[in-house]
Amino acid sequence: MTIEFATRVDQLPSFFQMPCIACEITGDDGQATGVVSATSGLGLGSCTDHIEVTARVLRRLHNYELAGLRASFVTAGITPEPQHDRAPGEGGGGRLFLEVPVEAVRALIEEHGGEHTEQDD
Ligand SMILES: [Zn+2]
Repeated sequence: MTIEFATRVDQLPSFFQMPCIACEITGDDGQATGVVSATSGLGLGSCTDHIEVTARVLRRLHNYELAGLRASFVTAGITPEPQHDRAPGEGGGGRLFLEVPVEAVRALIEEHGGEHTEQDD
């Protein structure tokens, strides 16, 4: 039994620049025109052409784990670029992640890094 999440599409404001994830997987550099978000709490940027396939992926996606994400897009009908020497999000790493609360993560890191060993010795 597979749980399917409900998805919705929001247009991105024009000043907001993020890549289309499906385009990245196919080796294109398409820019997202909208964001598909799911009741799972995950969201992915998508160009106009990939809204449908991105929504299909998000209906079943449980996390942003990259291998799983790629596989999900392939299952949904995306053909990855033939040469595998370039990973999606190359150099950026985190730019796939739209809904991840970056500030919260950063605060957490600072909390851990900043506190060093303040525990009693
Ligand atoms: Zn695209």
